[in-house]
Amino acid sequence: MSMRAMGSQVPEHPLDRVLDGRMCAGCGACAYLADEVEMVDLPHIGRRPVGVRALPIMVKDQIYSVCPGAAVRSPGEKVAPSNSAELLVGPVKEVWEGWASDAETRRGASSGGIISALATYCVEQLGMRLVVHTGMEKAEPWTNSTVVSSDRAGILGNSGSRYAPSSPVEALREIEASDRPCVFIGKPCDVAAVRELRRTRPQLDRNLGLVLSFFCAGTPASAGTLHVAEHLGFHDPSSIESIKYRGDGWPGRFRVRDSAGEHGSLSYEESWGMLARQHRQLRCHMCPDGLGELSDITGGDAWHRKAEGGDGVSLVLARTELGRRTVLQAEAAGYLTLAPSDVQKVVDAQGLVARRELITPRLAALRLMGLPVPSYPGFRLWRASLSIGPLKFVREFLGTLSRAVMRGYRRPEQEEEKEAQ
Ligand SMILES: Cc1cc2nc3c(=O)[nH]c(=O)nc-3n(C[C@H](O)[C@H](O)[C@H](O)COP(=O)(O)OP(=O)(O)OC[C@H]3O[C@@H](n4cnc5c(N)ncnc54)[C@H](O)[C@@H]3O)c2cc1C
Repeated sequence: MSMRAMGSQVPEHPLDRVLDGRMCAGCGACAYLADEVEMVDLPHIGRRPVGVRALPIMVKDQIYSVCPGAAVRSPGEKVAPSNSAELLVGPVKEVWEGWASDAETRRGASSGGIISALATYCVEQLGMRLVVHTGMEKAEPWTNSTVVSSDRAGILGNSGSRYAPSSPVEALREIEASDRPCVFIGKPCDVAAVRELRRTRPQLDRNLGLVLSFFCAGTPASAGTLHVAEHLGFHDPSSIESIKYRGDGWPGRFRVRDSAGEHGSLSYEESWGMLARQHRQLRCHMCPDGLGELSDITGGDAWHRKAEGGDGVSLVLARTELGRRTVLQAEAAGYLTLAPSDVQKVVDAQGLVARRELITPRLAALRLMGLPVPSYPGFRLWRASLSIGPLKFVREFLGTLSRAVMRGYRRPEQEEEKEAQ
């Protein structure tokens, strides 16, 4: 029985334990499954569902069964990796490096514009109805909103990474109600929820024409964005009109504009450093799936080619046969410019892959604290952790334990939010 339930003697639902234990990723699956639930941005924490606790147990059970704070199942459960690179990257059908052939798409995007180019291809050439993705919330530009685009202008208008919380799963009904297949774009945890949801919803399953993801080192809370804006001299959030984190070249700069026409910017390295250091939610540090294993296609920065210049280059991983076919068709139709690559290049490009080796000692520390942790069948986390050796394993375990005590992970996030305000 958890901390909260002990006082009241009412057994706590495991979904409440996910929330109390800070394992909510903020994906929005709760809001898709229950009308009463709304996703709200807690500035120092992340997007969280409001109204879950009062839901009937049957609805909670339904949500829990798809919640990435409870479990994420790797599709590679039955396919043994043949080397350490495959173990860290997960199952792939094919890997490429490249970019959007359209120069405007490539320039405006985060890395090579592959995600936006594929979404555009699906709408323009495959007749897909719409794209559910994420863009800047105009009223509060340091936060995000889920957006629905149905043409190139909408897709490009919302291209580029936004390093703040997002909940695109909340808008799956747009896809479910569509008369034609659609595209979903989300973080790895979002697509993990989508993979579970489509198992039991035939109409949703039929209408998910393509599921796209991107590499993700974790979501910084929106207070982090305001912190960077303040560092640039924008002290009054209400005057901020626009915030972009990337784009207009590779890797692109963090840019702020206010209502008086003042501009400020910071390099990608500095801004991401500030955001990542202090502002990522606990769930992200416990995530073994930084590379979107449950998508059809995922992409990330080809950092190993950064010296080549200011036009973005992406790594592109087809995770499913559908993904592989779609990438090749989009290339043949002139939407993508690609060259073959492999999983070793993904490892060379991305320090992020090493996080998988650290998850076992981190989870063990939280378990010792009595905190709930997600289960991750198929990710082979024990095997991945063997490569770090006993010393690093113990260091990681003790480091997580001391952070859990110092930062008070046992108290509810809402309390921390109140204290931070
Ligand atoms: C929080 C976060 C952490 C990331 N960490 C890494 C990393 O460690 N390594 C790495 O290589 N890449 C990381 N990325 C992804 C990277 O920044 C690029 O987005 C990726 O290379 C895809 O580039 P692209 O040019 O093909 O995408 P684009 O063509 O620019 O398309 C990006 C798409 O993602 C959607 N999107 C933007 N922000 C969000 C969000 N917060 N949540 C959901 N959808 C969103 C947009 O709506 C757009 O459709 C991260 C992205 C985010 C949002």
